[in-house]
Amino acid sequence: MTANKPYRILLYYKYVPINNPEEFTSEHLAFCKEIGLKGRILVAAEGINGTVSGTVEQTDQYMKIMKEDARFADMVFKIDDSATHAFKKMHVRHRDELVTLRLEDDLDPTEVTGKYLEPKQFFQAMNDPETVVIDARNDYEYDLGHFRGAIRPDIKAFRELPDWVKENKDMFEGKKILTYCTGGIRCEKFSGWLVKEGFEDVAQLHGGIVTYGKDPEVQGQLWDGQCYVFDERISVEVNRKDHVIVGKDYFTGEPCERYVNCANPECNKQILCSEENEEKYLRSCTHECRVHPRNRYVIEHHLTEAELLERLQKMDEDVLENHY
Ligand SMILES: [Zn+2]
Repeated sequence: MTANKPYRILLYYKYVPINNPEEFTSEHLAFCKEIGLKGRILVAAEGINGTVSGTVEQTDQYMKIMKEDARFADMVFKIDDSATHAFKKMHVRHRDELVTLRLEDDLDPTEVTGKYLEPKQFFQAMNDPETVVIDARNDYEYDLGHFRGAIRPDIKAFRELPDWVKENKDMFEGKKILTYCTGGIRCEKFSGWLVKEGFEDVAQLHGGIVTYGKDPEVQGQLWDGQCYVFDERISVEVNRKDHVIVGKDYFTGEPCERYVNCANPECNKQILCSEENEEKYLRSCTHECRVHPRNRYVIEHHLTEAELLERLQKMDEDVLENHY
């Protein structure tokens, strides 16, 4: 589609035992830096999970060398073309878990996990009335886009998901459960946990939303909004047939797909907001954030104290006028 773009973004993971993960981590960082990649890679005794960007040549070289390692020979790389790098630096970090579930008994997805459904099978399964679809991502990811009718767990972090399911068990009992996440890695564990919890019919979207959006037959149908991604792009397109916006502006509730971080460096909350409202509300989620002494919006726009006060006053007047 966009073959002439000079860069690529790779998204990949593999649950496979890695001995001496700390040593592997430092060697892998040196290797990635030598190639010239940028991105974020997590290494654990249970496997590897990464998103990196680089030129076509650099990413080719990385995939080739990784596949020469028997542990990663069958690793699936999801590839996006890109005009630029999608990261500023190269990080490789060692973690205890690839995805943070902090289960009492950790589980190995290579031993227990939900059934894998390919995009077309997943699409068909969603149309079954006996099915419940549960989003295995965080609330801010869901808010930008999700499968039509999917359940939005009220959680701030993935590790809260098991407790949330236990508390809402009646939603799932006797149903066919479908789970999905961005690239598939979170579902490997989450669906395995569901199976272990005793749910009988559990399936996961193989390759995640990213793969679903690329499937030539399904073309991302039944996905609403955009897919949140953990690189500088922030979001990617999924539904190529009928795109609907589900994101809502933090300030006005109007349709919006533009994430910004609150300008208070100590808050940094991600909020959906239009350019217009970013300017109006100084890209800050609350009054406290607006008046923070290191507010990045205020600094970037060289607002004097008098100008800031004037802007805050105007905001108050608008609020009164509109009876918010
Ligand atoms: Zn804030």
